[in-house]
Amino acid sequence: MIKHITCTVCPLSCEITLEIGENNEIISLTGNRCNRGKVYATKEHTAPERTLTTTVRVRGGVHPLLPVRTDQPIPKGKLKEAMLATAQLEVEAPVKMGTVIVENFLDLGVNLVASRDLERG
Ligand code: SF4
Repeated sequence: MIKHITCTVCPLSCEITLEIGENNEIISLTGNRCNRGKVYATKEHTAPERTLTTTVRVRGGVHPLLPVRTDQPIPKGKLKEAMLATAQLEVEAPVKMGTVIVENFLDLGVNLVASRDLERG
């Protein structure tokens, strides 16, 4: 099987082609201009991760929603669970950018943090 992955590590956006074997192993990897692309594509194939960016409800703020994100990427397969968990959250204004909203979010070893300041309304 052939798999194409666009490297997002730098603006060159190399198109990396992976040849995948029957046991999901990488047989060959081409198209990367540097080793960072090899590392990225290998991880993207074996254990893809994404940074969650979403919003949570706010009580008493100038806006009803606060943008939040995980401070590190989480497994791509956990994104739906993470979205459902954030939908249950509500914070009290004011909030400062970088404030930890949930420590060790979903036991993933990452924190959910505020992406901006939000004043009381
Ligand atoms: S493979 Fe290297 S040069 Fe190409 S996009 Fe990735 S980091 Fe940039």
